[in-house]
Amino acid sequence: MWKKAAREVTKKERTESNDVGKLRSRIMRAVGSKATSCERTVRDYLRPLGVRMRYNVASLPGKPDIVIPSLRFAIFVHGCFWHGHGCRRGARIPKTNAAYWTAKIARNRARDRRNAAALRRAGWSVVSIWECDSGRVRERKLKALRE
Ligand SMILES: [Zn+2]
Repeated sequence: MWKKAAREVTKKERTESNDVGKLRSRIMRAVGSKATSCERTVRDYLRPLGVRMRYNVASLPGKPDIVIPSLRFAIFVHGCFWHGHGCRRGARIPKTNAAYWTAKIARNRARDRRNAAALRRAGWSVVSIWECDSGRVRERKLKALRE
């Protein structure tokens, strides 16, 4: 009897955690695509400069999203959630497994800092664009690059 109950509970839990997992991955996908569209905007903004850009450069620390080798510019487009931005979106930690997410995001932030420091030491200018940056903020950051 208890075996059957146990089986049912496990099944129920499995279904529930599966639903949560599905929901979570749906949210993560949405978050990810938001950052991707932001990245596209940044590329479009830089394109008229006529400089050669490279994307997702794995040979540099942190695999910068956009790199302008001739100017030694490395640009990161950060999703606020994954990279722990201080904005409202960045502060939203899922209630389930909150400790896990807090630790994970802290690790991401530490890694971001290390990568940016390594790039700067190697003579790169590093710019971080946040997903939540308004068009104006984004433009200001990128303008600083152009000058
Ligand atoms: Zn943000």
